[in-house]
Amino acid sequence: MSAQPHAVVVGSGPNGLSAAARLLLEGWDVDVYESAPTPGGAARSTASLFGGAIVDLGAAGHPFGVASPAFQKLKLEEHGLTWKNAPYEMAHPLDGKETAFLSGSIEKTAAGLGSDAKAWDWLHGHVVRDIDKHLDNLLGPMLSIPRHPVHMLRFGPPALVSAATLAKTLFKTEQARALLASSAVHAITSPSRPLTGAFGILFGALGQSRGWPVAKGGTQAIVDALVSVIYSNGGRIHTGVEISDLRELPAADAIILNLTPRQILQLHGTSLAPKTRKRLEKWKYGPAVYKVDFLLNAPVPWTDPRVGTAATVHVGGTVDEISFVESEVAAGRMPDRPFVMVCQQYAADPTRGLTLWSYAHVPHGYIERYPGEIRELITGQIERFAPGFRETVVDATSTSPCELEAWNANLVGGD
Ligand SMILES: Cc1cc2nc3c(=O)[nH]c(=O)nc-3n(C[C@H](O)[C@H](O)[C@H](O)COP(=O)(O)OP(=O)(O)OC[C@H]3O[C@@H](n4cnc5c(N)ncnc54)[C@H](O)[C@@H]3O)c2cc1C
Repeated sequence: MSAQPHAVVVGSGPNGLSAAARLLLEGWDVDVYESAPTPGGAARSTASLFGGAIVDLGAAGHPFGVASPAFQKLKLEEHGLTWKNAPYEMAHPLDGKETAFLSGSIEKTAAGLGSDAKAWDWLHGHVVRDIDKHLDNLLGPMLSIPRHPVHMLRFGPPALVSAATLAKTLFKTEQARALLASSAVHAITSPSRPLTGAFGILFGALGQSRGWPVAKGGTQAIVDALVSVIYSNGGRIHTGVEISDLRELPAADAIILNLTPRQILQLHGTSLAPKTRKRLEKWKYGPAVYKVDFLLNAPVPWTDPRVGTAATVHVGGTVDEISFVESEVAAGRMPDRPFVMVCQQYAADPTRGLTLWSYAHVPHGYIERYPGEIRELITGQIERFAPGFRETVVDATSTSPCELEAWNANLVGGD
């Protein structure tokens, strides 16, 4: 290694930028190469879609962003980032039943779950109260000994089973069941699959400790803060440069590929060990998201008006319904009532304008059966809990899995 080690990062998504920023703080010299005209990957926002209102083109809600130990080390708040929480972190409306709400405090969430309050606290309380230790365990390298083994022992057993089984075994109310199962669905896999309990518990515990905030002014603010750390520490970002051969890059002591397995296999000049190549070849991409952004002339007219005060809304009905449609999607079949993730950023950040961010879970690489199919299915799902929603829509833009991949090569088949 030279006196000042030099790193090259390929890809400027939030992970690539975080790696670059961290290395710079450790005294490295860093160059980032990005194929798109602007940095940020799937964490970019735009004001050009709907005449000035900000639209998050990828990520919108940030439970992991606000809790990220890596982000904390970078002090992004000193570089302009502000997290904004809505009165409720998440709402989950149910047909003909009380809505379920995830609040920023476990006491408030549990109080809304009636006879399940105790069981809810049993499952989440210890994680909420020691969230940093759990994040230390869970966000570190997977194959190392956990830093807090006692906490891991307590977290592990319920986390190993499926979120659906856990929900139905522990809870009697549809509300508590739906909250757990739909939190697990952020992993974009059916909550009936083993290990999804871990996602449900962790997402829920994050909501009840750090919240599920949005970034003030758009997710782009996270990228802008990371870029600011990089520039203020002497790093360089080269946009509009697609790397297809590592031998094109300047000499470096380390190369970090902010890419997915298929892309790495297609790169020239990697000299991958056969064992590594084999491991990457085994990687299976998952289902996709089909994104629809709406411009509204009024807030969504939810039947339960409290839903309008949640940043994230899970639109998918009961645990059984969610498990069924997610299994269908994983099997390559498009359900008529897909699980829909909604973010109403305006509930947390009034600077955003009245835009509604949504996506449906769809099969990998899904192509619509007729033009506008997914926009219609998403609209139908929202109308189910907010009759009259259709009349509030002024404009909408759909982004298919293929379009997502064309925008950012890491989103293979919309995964
Ligand atoms: C529609 C959508 C909604 C999402 N919602 C959320 C959410 O609400 N909350 C959340 O936490 N997460 C969400 N995510 C996930 C989140 O965006 C990703 O986890 C995150 O962006 C991953 O960051 P990354 O740095 O690994 O890669 P990416 O953000 O994917 O960035 C990879 C970068 O590498 C560049 N690149 C690829 N190939 C090359 C090459 N050969 N040469 C040079 N550059 C290259 C790409 O152009 C891109 O800029 C969402 C993602 C999508 C697509």
